[in-house]
Amino acid sequence: MPARLTVLSGPSGVGKGTVVARLRQVVPRIWVSVSCTTRTARPGEVDGVQYRFVTRPQFDAMVAAGELLEHAEFAGQCYGTPRAPLADRLAAGEPVLLEIELQGARQVRAAMPGAQFVFLAPPSIEILVRRLSGRHTESEAELAARMERARIEMAAADEFDHVVVNDDLDRAVAEVAALVTAP
Ligand code: 5GP
Repeated sequence: MPARLTVLSGPSGVGKGTVVARLRQVVPRIWVSVSCTTRTARPGEVDGVQYRFVTRPQFDAMVAAGELLEHAEFAGQCYGTPRAPLADRLAAGEPVLLEIELQGARQVRAAMPGAQFVFLAPPSIEILVRRLSGRHTESEAELAARMERARIEMAAADEFDHVVVNDDLDRAVAEVAALVTAP
């Protein structure tokens, strides 16, 4: 089966993290890129697992050295995808998943036109707002920034090759699993 790069995007609070965690169980050979970020770790997050947590100067140095395939600022923090590990996995023929926001997805589309782009959508904006504000992991200002970005991301859903609605987790995971393993 050929290597396939899949980019999964969707507004903050839509449940990307949960879908990706389940996807790893359903498709154990999927390799999920570990992004670098300048934001601080949430409780339970481990450096090198969910993210590589770096300082702003470290992040800027990676950008300057061309080490990131794409990078973007989101709600006041920087996020980026290290280029080398991803290239290694694709060369090894493994399916690869990036879970990134809209601006990064657009950069990947320009850099790697053969990738497929999947948008994870909430059943409704109201449900998204409820999920986001019920999470209690962000400050009020961060939450407001994330809500604003969520509206922008929702408006861009039709730029993606596939839209998967996260109304039923099992079905949404099955749909994403079918896409990441499609020949
Ligand atoms: P969070 O802080 O909630 O973990 O992530 C915030 C947003 O950044 C999410 O939409 C997530 O998909 C996105 N993100 C995570 N890693 C990257 C990355 O490497 N590049 C880009 N462009 N976005 C990322």
